[in-house]
Amino acid sequence: MAKTTSKQTQAVRAAVESDLQFGAVIPPVYLTSNFTFAGFDEPRRYDYTRTGNPTRDALADVLAELEGGRGATVTASGMGAISLACQLLNPGDLVVGPRDCYGGTYRLFNRLAKRGLFRVILVDQTDLDEVAGAMRDGAKMVWVESPTNPLLRIVDLERMRVLADQHRALMVVDNTFLSPALQRPIEFGADLVIHSTTKYLNGHSDVVGGAVIAATDALHQEMQEWANALGFSGSPFDSFMTLRGVRTLYARMTQHEKNATTLAEIISEHGATHRVFYPGRADHAGHALAARQQSGYGGMLSFELRGGVAAARAFLETVELFSLAESLGGVESLACHPATMTHATFDADDRRLAGIEDGLVRLSAGIEATEDLVRDVLHGLDAAARAA
Ligand SMILES: *Cc1c(COP(=O)(O)O)cnc(C)c1O
Repeated sequence: MAKTTSKQTQAVRAAVESDLQFGAVIPPVYLTSNFTFAGFDEPRRYDYTRTGNPTRDALADVLAELEGGRGATVTASGMGAISLACQLLNPGDLVVGPRDCYGGTYRLFNRLAKRGLFRVILVDQTDLDEVAGAMRDGAKMVWVESPTNPLLRIVDLERMRVLADQHRALMVVDNTFLSPALQRPIEFGADLVIHSTTKYLNGHSDVVGGAVIAATDALHQEMQEWANALGFSGSPFDSFMTLRGVRTLYARMTQHEKNATTLAEIISEHGATHRVFYPGRADHAGHALAARQQSGYGGMLSFELRGGVAAARAFLETVELFSLAESLGGVESLACHPATMTHATFDADDRRLAGIEDGLVRLSAGIEATEDLVRDVLHGLDAAARAA
């Protein structure tokens, strides 16, 4: 395909017409653990699926293309992708990450640090002085999430690159919340981009998967070797499903964002809430920065109910079009209560420091008709007001 083709078109056309044998429009899934040698001492391109598989490579190629990286390593989960990036750390190395990072990342970092595999300092990455302070004595890796979960704080990727450069540290960005359709961290100097493809990239809540996209050939090679050595590679079937999801990524993101924008508006106007967190709103602390480094604001939003946990319960028990579930980024709308769900693994002090109140509710706006979601959320907010 011509290199000038837009990324949206490349996503739609990913692996289309690549089947040489029958001319299938969509290539088949290669459900095979191994591949024959063509003859004695005549290896083919693939030999064993842990090491390489055509279906997984088709997904990797489009992910690298969309993120503007040199290569992608497809893993069995987002946490697998994060664990893979952790292989670049040695005992004594310091990782500086966000205090309000994804719960699974928080747990993994803390457990590995406890075993002495590396050191971790978690800071508020919207406070550049705090980041610089944490890196004072050197750092090996700056781990960034933007927007953060669940308060949608926006971290300045360009400034993180500058701070990382001062210590020759690697910059890793978990881009799960926006997908490459709305943010491409490599353009801001990221060395590695992490995805839980479970979320927007697959987009249909039927696969768990991940990917590490590398900005350089050397880093890509290292990720490929570790994925093979550790056995982290994603399955061909999951890759096929995720590739199918990626083809509609851009169309889905447009509707996710339309719904999130409208919901943020009506939630902010309702008396049951006192704060709404959505980067697309002018009153969001990171709005200007988001406008600069993102090409959209995404489908995630959260809000604090005045009535605390009782109001949150009433809201979540009333809405019918938002399934009470962790995860995000699927076509169907989801709602969650971070304090008892996604962030239950945080200890109470860390949760308070991260600003996660008991009345906080997080929504993953799906791609349903906007007016249906609006009606449903208004019912939920009315119930929350009565419970307060
Ligand atoms: C879900 C998620 C992960 C973990 O991915 P899994 O596919 O669940 O292993 C990592 N980072 C972020 C931001 C996520 O939302």
